[in-house]
Amino acid sequence: MVEKMVRKTSMECPLCGKTHEVEERKRFSTVMIKGEKVTYEEHYFVCENADEDENEFETGAMMNANLLNARNAYRSLHGLLTSDEIVAIRESYSLSQVDLARLLGWGEATISRYESKAIQDEAYDTMLRLIRDDPTQALAFLSKNAKQFTVEKRQKIKSKIMEKIDDYGKEGIARKAFEIEYAKYDEPSLENGYTMLNIDKIEAMISYIAAKVPHLFKVKLMKMLWYSDALSYKLNKVAMTGMVYRHEAMGALPIGHYRLMDLANINVKEETSANYDSMLHIYPVEGMDYSSLSAEEKDILDQVISQFKSYKAKEIIDYMHEEKAYTQTENGMIIPFDLAGEIRSFDQ
Ligand SMILES: [Zn+2]
Repeated sequence: MVEKMVRKTSMECPLCGKTHEVEERKRFSTVMIKGEKVTYEEHYFVCENADEDENEFETGAMMNANLLNARNAYRSLHGLLTSDEIVAIRESYSLSQVDLARLLGWGEATISRYESKAIQDEAYDTMLRLIRDDPTQALAFLSKNAKQFTVEKRQKIKSKIMEKIDDYGKEGIARKAFEIEYAKYDEPSLENGYTMLNIDKIEAMISYIAAKVPHLFKVKLMKMLWYSDALSYKLNKVAMTGMVYRHEAMGALPIGHYRLMDLANINVKEETSANYDSMLHIYPVEGMDYSSLSAEEKDILDQVISQFKSYKAKEIIDYMHEEKAYTQTENGMIIPFDLAGEIRSFDQ
């Protein structure tokens, strides 16, 4: 086990009884949860005065935190919501633990247990995800479990849900429309670059590119997204966005690209010019959350940006027409990522 020092704290030591500086350390430990071996990060204190084989202790708060870490490790292993994610869902509706439990038709203590210690069953997890992704589902639960609440309480909860529907409704509809375009690509494959559609990441990527590329119009953006996915696949054998691209006369175009431009967190303005009837100009989104992009992914975007920043739409289309992904596919065909991954190296 690799041990790491976290910090030193002065406290009354329960092992030797003296007040002194004790080291807090962490290590990876394993524990059995639901019959399964789970690895998690464990924190503990070490007393320098005690015998080596019994010099470790944990405070009550530490034990609880370790337990939560272990359970969250089990949750991510099984694709379940973590306790923090459950808290976030509840807070997004401004509900108490008891009220959320009643809303979903569960025992009163259920949410409190899931936020602190117990691991939720898959069926419960699914219900929480439902109301996270679609506030109209919360409204459906409210009418189903109306009897759980007094009339005033029900009105209060209903108005909170309606607020959320107002806030997220439009965005939710645009996301759903785009997701439906990808309904048949629900397995990792060569078509989506072994990545499932990630709308948050696509929105972050578009804003990131728009912040660094002046005069970014839709045609050029579509090519830059394809090159980002292609470069990611070339380097790591997985694409970034999960989008599926088709060979079109003007270069690669993602499936559902009309819907894509409707997404709430894409700052697009229709502009007219002398040469074109109308063009979609893409700008960065103020206050955009870029946390869905890793440092490595930003590096990939930066490479694509520095390569194509000064290209006009026509130039990037011509450049793309030389790629194997283009010469070896035909109009209307989906461009598989094994071909996309063979893009030429960028100019130095
Ligand atoms: Zn001690």
